[in-house]
Amino acid sequence: MTTDLLIQGGWVIDPSQSINGRYDIAISGGRIAALAEPGRLPAEIGGARQTLDASGTIVTPGLIDLHAHVFPGRTPLGIEADRVGVEQGVTTLVDAGSAGARTFATFLDEAVKPAETRVLAFLNIAGEGLCGGLSELADMDRLTPGGAVALIREQPLIRGIKARMSASVVRENGIKPLLVAKEAAREAGCPLMVHIGNAPPALPEILRELDAGDVVTHAFHGKTGGILDDRGRLITEAEKALARGVLFDVGHGTSSFSFRTMRQARALGLAPHTISTDIYRQNAAGPVHSLTTTMTKFLALGFSLEEVIAACTAAPAAVLRMTDEIGTLRPGAVADLSLLELTNVPVVLTDSEREQLTAEESVTAKLTIKAGKVLTCR
Ligand SMILES: [Zn+2]
Repeated sequence: MTTDLLIQGGWVIDPSQSINGRYDIAISGGRIAALAEPGRLPAEIGGARQTLDASGTIVTPGLIDLHAHVFPGRTPLGIEADRVGVEQGVTTLVDAGSAGARTFATFLDEAVKPAETRVLAFLNIAGEGLCGGLSELADMDRLTPGGAVALIREQPLIRGIKARMSASVVRENGIKPLLVAKEAAREAGCPLMVHIGNAPPALPEILRELDAGDVVTHAFHGKTGGILDDRGRLITEAEKALARGVLFDVGHGTSSFSFRTMRQARALGLAPHTISTDIYRQNAAGPVHSLTTTMTKFLALGFSLEEVIAACTAAPAAVLRMTDEIGTLRPGAVADLSLLELTNVPVVLTDSEREQLTAEESVTAKLTIKAGKVLTCR
């Protein structure tokens, strides 16, 4: 077997295999061919066409951002996928609800196909997605559960359904859009991602509808009515939801991530299942910046590098039900990798509540490898 690319000298962290050490990685035909301690690749992994010296970098499975908005031109928030994808070390972006059943074909042509980044989607339960403005669930007639279920059955890039359940989105409809979205997700056999924010509907009411594998995004926002009560205790419905297997995602966004909430939650033993950005045009210049910046914030909050990497690789791959393909460096998986640098220059970072935090070390992306192809980061 000819090796297309041999990556040597890097420090590999792959939580899917509990790997944290120096390894060589052989890539062939866009897939991981082998991974072994230095000099121990099997003999049949012969001469490599290209060798990459990864010394000084941390090599991880390609980073996955479970919540982004990459439908530019058609939605007020959209940003070009590659700008926040492969150019920033992210090999897979999940667009969370920019497109719905009626706009998905355009999304495919304009956002997915031109991108070097793998773009997957949670389909908005509203037919237009965010193409018709940001109150997409204010009118029940705009929901297209039948169309969503049919499309999910034929389109493997759609991994779930998205419902944005906050007051400005649902207006007078309260919990109703969620019930429709949940029913559609059940019918399609896929997870539901729910955005939470300002009530109504109230968070306990939302959480009660969710099952194992469903995702609450913006779980650690700093608004009132979140997962913690005013004394910093986890609300009962959140405790029950977590026990059932409901997953808490970060979804940083302009106004949806609070260091204070995250610190309080961590003191209770909570950690996000997945770390995502909710990056879009208006927050790419701050406070979000990138997935690696969001990872840096979690290091500064006291999470370990392994935990942070797991929350951007193996964990989102599991949500997407793609653990054999992405989020892992297991032989046979797609050769999506991120080469990251950890630098010790202190940097001041800001959350959605304008609270600042000094990170002593920061994660930056150096190179992205997408299906075996080496791409430079910005
Ligand atoms: Zn979002």
